[in-house]
Amino acid sequence: MREIKLGKFVLGGNNPIRVQSMCNTDTRDVLATIKQIQQLEKIGCEINRIAVPDMDACRKIAKIKAEITNPLVADIHFDHKLALEAIKQGIDKIRINPGNIGDAEKVKDIVKACKDRKIPIRIGVNAGSLKAIKNADTSSWSSEKYADIMVQEAIEEINILEQLNFKQVLVSLKADDLNRTVLACKKFAKQMPEIPQHIGLTEAGSFIAGSVKSAIAMSELLRSKIGATIRVSLTESPILQVRTAYEILKTLGLREYGPNIISCPTCGRCEVDVASVVKELEDRIYNDPELLKKSTGKKIAVMGCIVNGPGEAKESDFGIAGGKSKGIFFEAGKQTKKLSQKEWISTIINKIKE
Ligand code: SF4
Repeated sequence: MREIKLGKFVLGGNNPIRVQSMCNTDTRDVLATIKQIQQLEKIGCEINRIAVPDMDACRKIAKIKAEITNPLVADIHFDHKLALEAIKQGIDKIRINPGNIGDAEKVKDIVKACKDRKIPIRIGVNAGSLKAIKNADTSSWSSEKYADIMVQEAIEEINILEQLNFKQVLVSLKADDLNRTVLACKKFAKQMPEIPQHIGLTEAGSFIAGSVKSAIAMSELLRSKIGATIRVSLTESPILQVRTAYEILKTLGLREYGPNIISCPTCGRCEVDVASVVKELEDRIYNDPELLKKSTGKKIAVMGCIVNGPGEAKESDFGIAGGKSKGIFFEAGKQTKKLSQKEWISTIINKIKE
């Protein structure tokens, strides 16, 4: 598989799978966009994309770039002038479909500019905007047929760039439907294994529904070794999209990110508020880069009672099993002290910091 250089990262091959998201601010609002990207970088978002709908937004790229650390991607549709200006402004990658530019000379100009600045292009094929569906009755189309057409349109786009000897290309094949997405990515990987894929479901939906759908789809792809970078597209803040993406990678053992918190669902035996402890603990950890770093890879148990609590807490690096408004602290398999509930969070945080 080709390796694609994107700012300080290399995508594809055996390189780590990178997490990305997209700002939902108005790109023309430079301060709001910078603020959101800085928040995203703080929680570990490695690649950030911004929409570039017009020249006004495009001319803000250099200002945004000056205040952020990680690679910035411009999402551009149809207008080659926006692509050229974004490249001039210092963008690190563009997402554009050359087939939509409509003029071979304009595509050549974009490719030349990308080659000069050594930046890659992502071709993005979405099931909802396939050229083949424009005047077609798609009601009887199977997932297989959708996937075949997605792959065909992706290859057509790639061929435009290949003919110009441009190789720094990633591709995404996305649908809001699990089967179409997974089939398309797998078929593409078989036909063009050398091209790294950006994977994800598009328009996946609300937080819970979209996270579940995305996790199932990405798990299948990632276990098949498909995916150089992932984006979880939820109707939610990009912060939660990044958290979800990392949880998927962490669960599959592909990246480390924050602790593995083992907490019980609670039941009628529980006499402590486990849910608020876990929520506060996560809020503290994921809003503090130092805590996030120090807690990474640690298994921390927060259990409601002594029925399963001590067992789980013992299996963890450290943890607490609840009792009546109190808790027993375990570390390395040993019970070390009794705590009142108000000491739970501070004890765990201090232990992470040690
Ligand atoms: S650990 Fe205790 S409180 Fe939690 S679910 Fe199990 S039995 Fe219920």
